[in-house]
Amino acid sequence: MTDCLFCRIAAGEIPADVVHETDTTLAFRDITPKAPVHVLVIPKAHFPDVAALAAADPGLAGQVLASAGAVAEAAGLTADGYRTIFNTGGYGGQEVAHVHAHVVGGAPLGPMLC
Ligand code: C5P
Repeated sequence: MTDCLFCRIAAGEIPADVVHETDTTLAFRDITPKAPVHVLVIPKAHFPDVAALAAADPGLAGQVLASAGAVAEAAGLTADGYRTIFNTGGYGGQEVAHVHAHVVGGAPLGPMLC
């Protein structure tokens, strides 16, 4: 989708601080980090939210989760723990309608939401 911000990041049309990439997924640092480590993991293909992704392509949903785990491992988050968040829709606080996992950690998170 040409009007989708994260599709444009996936296509390399908008710069991002990429930390992990596979054939089907991309992970980049959030521009407004809510924790010492805050990375977004997206499928390169467009799906509006995690439910739509899982319904249409559960294999790709698994690849997004695997990439989130790889990001956490590479960032050194696994020993102390971290959070993986998918916001969905307006009440869920989703601002960008291209499914993305927030991988946040590096400090105690408490009730923090993304
Ligand atoms: O879950 P939600 O849709 O609210 O998250 C969108 C996230 O995308 C925000 O945390 C925002 O900081 C991030 N963002 C970004 N790069 C952009 C635009 C938004 O990292 N160019």
